Amino acid sequence: MHNFYSDTQTRPTRAMREAVLEAELGDEQRDADPTTNALCARMAALLGKEAAVFLPSGTMCNEIAIAVHCRPGDEVICERSSHILGYEAGGPAALSGVMMHALDGERGMMTPEQVAGAIRPRNRYAPISRLFCAEQTANLAGGAVWPVEQLSAAAAVAREAGLATHMDGARLLNAVVASGRPAAEHAAGFDSVWVDFTKGLGCPVGAVLAGSAAFIEAAWRLKQRWGGAMRQSGVLAAMALHALDHHVDRLVEDHALAHSIGERLAALPGIARVLPVDSNIVILDLAETAPDAATLVARLLEAGIAVGAFGARRIRIVTHLDTDPEGGDALVRAFETLTAAHAA
Ligand SMILES: *Cc1c(COP(=O)(O)O)cnc(C)c1O
Repeated sequence: MHNFYSDTQTRPTRAMREAVLEAELGDEQRDADPTTNALCARMAALLGKEAAVFLPSGTMCNEIAIAVHCRPGDEVICERSSHILGYEAGGPAALSGVMMHALDGERGMMTPEQVAGAIRPRNRYAPISRLFCAEQTANLAGGAVWPVEQLSAAAAVAREAGLATHMDGARLLNAVVASGRPAAEHAAGFDSVWVDFTKGLGCPVGAVLAGSAAFIEAAWRLKQRWGGAMRQSGVLAAMALHALDHHVDRLVEDHALAHSIGERLAALPGIARVLPVDSNIVILDLAETAPDAATLVARLLEAGIAVGAFGARRIRIVTHLDTDPEGGDALVRAFETLTAAHAA
């Protein structure tokens, strides 16, 4: 099986599992797990923030950040395809009582003018525009990498208007590798930012949320309240530290494979278009002559290739630690056969 469904499907490597054997452990809830503390310190430094907290998931990072930054009735400005809007079970409304103000960006990215236009005047009637969120990379836009200048300019507009800023950096390290710009530069305009260890970095569990010391103290209270405090979480943090040492630079290989797959698929008659490939995600739309996405996904699965359907004619392919060029070749061949067979 060649699994291109998602970079969340990686299994921890043997070396990653072995790193756990040496990890010093303690009670994380009491700040007494040395390995988790080391991970948080390293991530705070990497992201250019004062402090960080280890959390079970990226979703929890987003939801805690929204809750810390906002009060019920406040408004959050985000892009329409963003994870916080469409994939967190209504968490912003259910947990924080906020309104979501969705903007139609270009490939998941908004211009500073768009953000400025979405900020409401302060008066007695309007919800308070409280928080601006950006996703780096923009997942459902095809792993689009915001240019650092555009990202910073959009955040600056929000900050100047008194809004807080939050970055969903689930795949921020993919953006770092793709852009050659350090994580702290990407995150500079943001009050809070997090990185997921269960995507391209290949860990089984965990994400780290960073911000000012005061922000992290507030985040910790919600982590406790929502049941996210852990005990000997160094078992997980050891794998995350291993991933920082061994699985960041290799992201270039995932990007190269995604580029190559995207180029080859774009040449097939059964494929109407492939979105630009910036990182490790390829999104394509099937031509009318090809089967619909659900049918094609099922047939690909029979051929040993897993990909995701994201709409009636849209497919997402993700490269990661457990994919390789041979799998990419098999994927392209299967697409060629299965999209052409239908046309004939
Ligand atoms: C995966 C993902 C999340 C959620 O992270 P989990 O660790 O799966 O909860 C949030 N935002 C983006 C952009 C993602 O890709």
